[in-house]
Amino acid sequence: MTELVEVGKDGVLARTRAALAAGFRLARDVALPPLCPSCRETLGDGAGLCAECWSKLSLIEPPYCARLGIPFAYDAGPGLLSMEAIADPPAYNRARAAVRYDDVARALVQAFKYGDRLDLAPMLARWMLRAGRELFDGADAFVPVPLHWRRLWARRFNQSAALSGALSQLTTIAVHHDDLARVRATEQQVGLSKSARAENVQGAFRVPDDAKGRVAGRRLILVDDVLTSGATADACARALLRAGAAKVDVLVFARVVAPARSPI
Ligand SMILES: [Zn+2]
Repeated sequence: MTELVEVGKDGVLARTRAALAAGFRLARDVALPPLCPSCRETLGDGAGLCAECWSKLSLIEPPYCARLGIPFAYDAGPGLLSMEAIADPPAYNRARAAVRYDDVARALVQAFKYGDRLDLAPMLARWMLRAGRELFDGADAFVPVPLHWRRLWARRFNQSAALSGALSQLTTIAVHHDDLARVRATEQQVGLSKSARAENVQGAFRVPDDAKGRVAGRRLILVDDVLTSGATADACARALLRAGAAKVDVLVFARVVAPARSPI
């Protein structure tokens, strides 16, 4: 998911504000137990979500499109592709997601991304491990979707890099942090049509010259927190494939899923 956070000359002020907010948060967390980001229930143990909200997360399970990972309404046999995958095939090979991006998943992702809950990364990665099991065999490295440097500076960490690190610990597959660079800040994707999203991220990513040797011939797994239209993942995959990557798969924690559909 991309959204524009321009820092510019107000950056120092924003940083100061963030530091103050973190300080207040620390003071508050010492005084009060943390709350479930989805239902505001008190949490005993920093589990990210309360037990009830965890149980409401909607796991993406087979049957799904072998290419896009979009769930099917019924099982019509292995290896089937969705209409979308045939009509408009992505640059990447396969995409897999742990859960549907619904209200509970959104609350969890937002707590992780904007709420200084970097500690949630191992938990989210364990769900991704389950969803991505078909992708790991023969994979050379995880490649996090990069943030533009201004956004990285404002947010202080790249959520995709944190998820990649946690996945690497679980699988022993390496993380290549510098295989992709975001060479231009992109407009907010929220509210844009599918084609506008694709246009928005076109040319936004590039493999730096000094990374080309690492990318050529490699089987890579691109990692992000949320997959919406797939335009960002597609732009990243295109850049990696142009630099000679042998294959690019995509693994995310949550993906936006339209109402149930049938395989063709
Ligand atoms: Zn809850």
